[in-house]
Amino acid sequence: MIQEPAADPLARPFRPALVHALRGRCPACGEGRMFAAFLKPTAGCESCGQAWDQHQADDFPAYLVILLLGHLLVPLMIEVNGALSIPLGVQAALWPCLALVLATLLIQPAKAAVIAFQWSRRMHGFR
Ligand SMILES: [Zn+2]
Repeated sequence: MIQEPAADPLARPFRPALVHALRGRCPACGEGRMFAAFLKPTAGCESCGQAWDQHQADDFPAYLVILLLGHLLVPLMIEVNGALSIPLGVQAALWPCLALVLATLLIQPAKAAVIAFQWSRRMHGFR
């Protein structure tokens, strides 16, 4: 009979932490709120007490959003220009506005994911 190793009580699995963080919840317990403001994490989880102000996400969430949007929007712009003849003035307003809206929608989940990754890997202040 093969016995599975006992679960490590100190383990911080990334996948559930990421799911909680993407829902705006504490990656540690999934109950408390993660953000006090749009991009400002709470000082500590009101449910489990995990401190979230010690992360060092810095500009990495913005780099992730730029990388993702660049790979989505540039091919989309090329395809739309090939298929439709949208006037240049409309495009000059359309693409920056679309990029701004998508970046605004993606920046908080990207920051939550980065913080959840740092927490799960015990990086920086999450030891
Ligand atoms: Zn918590």
